[in-house]
Amino acid sequence: MLSSEFLSASNRLTIDLNALADNWRSMNARSGKARAAAVLKADAYGLGIEGAAPALYAAGARDFFVANAEEGADLRPLLPEARIYILAGMWPGNEPMFFDNDLVPVINSEEQLAVFMAALSERGDHPCVLHVDTGMNRLGLSVEEAVALANDPARPASFSPVLIMSHLACADDPDNPLNGYQLNRFREATAAFEGVDASLANSGGVFLGSDYHFDLTRPGIAVYGGEAVNDVANPMKPVVTAEARILQVRTVASGGHASYGASARFNRDSRIATVAVGYADGYHRSVSGGGVTLRQATPSGAFGFLHGQKVPHVGRVTMDLSLFDVTDLPENAVRAGDYIELFGRHIAVDDVARAGGTIGYEMLTSLGHRYERHYVGAV
Ligand SMILES: *Cc1c(COP(=O)(O)O)cnc(C)c1O
Repeated sequence: MLSSEFLSASNRLTIDLNALADNWRSMNARSGKARAAAVLKADAYGLGIEGAAPALYAAGARDFFVANAEEGADLRPLLPEARIYILAGMWPGNEPMFFDNDLVPVINSEEQLAVFMAALSERGDHPCVLHVDTGMNRLGLSVEEAVALANDPARPASFSPVLIMSHLACADDPDNPLNGYQLNRFREATAAFEGVDASLANSGGVFLGSDYHFDLTRPGIAVYGGEAVNDVANPMKPVVTAEARILQVRTVASGGHASYGASARFNRDSRIATVAVGYADGYHRSVSGGGVTLRQATPSGAFGFLHGQKVPHVGRVTMDLSLFDVTDLPENAVRAGDYIELFGRHIAVDDVARAGGTIGYEMLTSLGHRYERHYVGAV
């Protein structure tokens, strides 16, 4: 019999706000003389801003970055006193959102500068951030444009950025020479804006050392417990644990198969747990144990964690369901209704990501809406 609790309860995300706060404090300490902001874009990397934002504010963060003005407007009521920066900047038509919600636009281009200046002349003073591209080639004025702007005698007195920023392309790879190149380019730009705070480092940049810290750092993934630097042990605490429920345990005789394409094949009598999670929950099809053509080069798929043991995913991840081979657990140990950990305390989110050829950032921001979210820990 299934209990009524099982019938009503869904998969769950447990979000440890103490670990989140500890990770932010750790990144703030690693930022040395600089203060650490927190990056809350994409609903706090999938964790949910309602839980994450107040916890980070309580930990001491006062500067917050989000992707666009809509995210900023959602964040403002949660953080009435914080400084909220909008990475995508201001566009014709969304200027009121910045003034109404006290949001600081990042100016990413000459066009955005013109939009911002026009808005200022209409509405009066407002802070902004100047983004300078130093090698990422994604957003920002060129260093030359920024220096020219700083030295332009016709520059309006009302244009006074509170921050000059740039973004590193290879911060996860400490030996990459592009890091030093970008640092030098950024120094050329900041020299032209004396007295203005500067910000270069994302999570990986914080680990590159004090040269990269300037006045404000912008850690995201490390605060959420993910890997910021390639090929070194991750020092952060896991924040998110994703667990899904087992719907059924079935046996497949040796020589049998399971899943679409009969892609899981068994050479021993096997017990297979059918779990209520799939790619619609961000458990990407590419983490499948087998049968995914484009991923044949990767030797194995993801593992789950169940009753103290790692168990392999088998066959293909489907929209709502996944199969795990639980044959190595004691018979009768696994029951319908049990939770299997997909990632979190025992399985690193980045290990699951690697099995699927992606990164922890994408796993977290793909979680979707079908999990019950449990926030634990004090705010
Ligand atoms: C997302 C983002 C960050 C945070 O990056 P992490 O690698 O998650 O630390 C910092 N700065 C900018 C401009 C970003 O877009």
